[in-house]
Amino acid sequence: MKRPVLAANWKMNNGPTAAKSFMDTFIEGFRPKTERTVIIFPPAVDLTIVAAATSARTDVFAGIQNIHWAEKGAFTGETSAAMAKDAGARMVLVGHSERRHVFGETDAQCAKKCLAAARVQLPFMLCVGEKIEQREAGETESVVMHQLREGLSLTPNLISTEFMIAYEPVWAIGTGLTASAADASAIHTLLRRELRQMIGTRGNEIPILYGGSVNASNAAGLLAAPEVDGLLVGGASVDAASWLAIAQGDISDEL
Ligand code: PEP
Repeated sequence: MKRPVLAANWKMNNGPTAAKSFMDTFIEGFRPKTERTVIIFPPAVDLTIVAAATSARTDVFAGIQNIHWAEKGAFTGETSAAMAKDAGARMVLVGHSERRHVFGETDAQCAKKCLAAARVQLPFMLCVGEKIEQREAGETESVVMHQLREGLSLTPNLISTEFMIAYEPVWAIGTGLTASAADASAIHTLLRRELRQMIGTRGNEIPILYGGSVNASNAAGLLAAPEVDGLLVGGASVDAASWLAIAQGDISDEL
């Protein structure tokens, strides 16, 4: 049985007071029947709070939603990989669709961020996904493969680097539309094949998460799909009760 990864991306929600209250509720309530790993990606201002709240757990940890690729310097508003790690992040999201499509982040920048994270042994989760017009034009495979290859292109020793992939079709993020389990599975299978091409059998061990309007009702069905190793959840992870229902939910032993 796989150990699924359930990741919460709060986006720009929950300041420090709300984060503390969320974590109190979540840590108190989170007692799943089967093993899993939970990652919470709060806004950077909450990182130390989430990290402190999870310090006694081996199955829950904090991540950061974004980093800059430079080590330090005149980059107002940015956070380096080493700083994020120092504040308690144990993973970083790279290339989330909102970073790419709201802030114009490029594949080249994603590659530099993956490299920066790997340099300080901060595991990263590279997000890939097609826009609706790309899907309608039959370009899904070429788009996500390009994002995967380019995003990982600068990281040396990929075979010994800790990372995950999240497949998040842009048209499914925050829209209430979800890829079917079969559609998600098909893209994950292609991503898996490409990872195996890059790093051999280690490619079988890289968790590939699905994201896009996941909620407590559709989570188990998506998680049961072949090659879906976990879920990256935005809107439905902002409230502690909603996130608890997803993270705590029963997951098939067939995974
Ligand atoms: C996300 O932010 O990664 C995401 C998948 O958002 P949502 O669950 O709201 O679609």
